[in-house]
Amino acid sequence: MLTIENLYAHIDDKQILNGLNLSIKSGEIHAIMGPNGAGKSTLSNIISGREGYDITQGDIFFKQKSLIGLSPEERAALGIFLAFQYPVEIQGVPTLTFLKTALNSLRKARGEENLDTIEFSKLIKEKAAKLEMSLDMLKRPLNVGFSGGEKKRNDILQMLVLEPSLCILDETDSGLDIDALKIVATGVNMMRSENRSMIIITHYQRLLDYIKPDYVHILAGGKIVQSGDASLALDLEKHGYAKFDAA
Ligand code: ADP
Ligand code: MG
Repeated sequence: MLTIENLYAHIDDKQILNGLNLSIKSGEIHAIMGPNGAGKSTLSNIISGREGYDITQGDIFFKQKSLIGLSPEERAALGIFLAFQYPVEIQGVPTLTFLKTALNSLRKARGEENLDTIEFSKLIKEKAAKLEMSLDMLKRPLNVGFSGGEKKRNDILQMLVLEPSLCILDETDSGLDIDALKIVATGVNMMRSENRSMIIITHYQRLLDYIKPDYVHILAGGKIVQSGDASLALDLEKHGYAKFDAA
């Protein structure tokens, strides 16, 4: 599904990724953990096509196709979805309108018909119910005045509606209380499928009590310095990142 080969990237004069390699097969969940400033958000931004980064070496292949040079919209149409560490607020745009526009533009890029209002309402009701979200909340402007937990729930709802084939969650667990955390985990677990892969970026292993990853990687100094199974996360929780800081 996703292969990252020897990726080097910098922003302005700052080198951030230093020869990063990562390979994710269809159906797999990979957790990426690492100290603050390691390059985790940079990696997710670069996969999703955010501008401002210079890639000086290496390549990213998604479904056998290089992503370099593709716009964020083209990548989204291919099935890449990024839930941000800090969700954006959009004044004046109801969450429902945002979701409908996002879904229909993806459908258009895939050569599918737009969903009409009735079909869309039905879809939203079904997905929101799974996350115990009220439709009232979805009438409010996107993320404006949402609590941390509501924003994350909203991110997960987007994921359920857009049905991407690669989901990247960048510290979707930060600032969540335990109930909201469980809802995020439930959403992620509902999305688990043989045709879908996920990258879960997290600073703590807490979320991984509810989402069982197939692989855990440690990102430090702009590259993957260790990979293992779920037990690696528990090990990190005990011993911390200290030994990787110098990496
Ligand atoms: P993480 O998500 O692992 O905490 P980031 O990818 O956000 O790390 O950041 C990696 C490093 O790159 C940090 O040292 C950070 O300060 C730096 N960095 C990130 N974005 C920018 C930017 N826009 N301009 C300059 N430096 C940046
Ligand atoms: Mg980050």
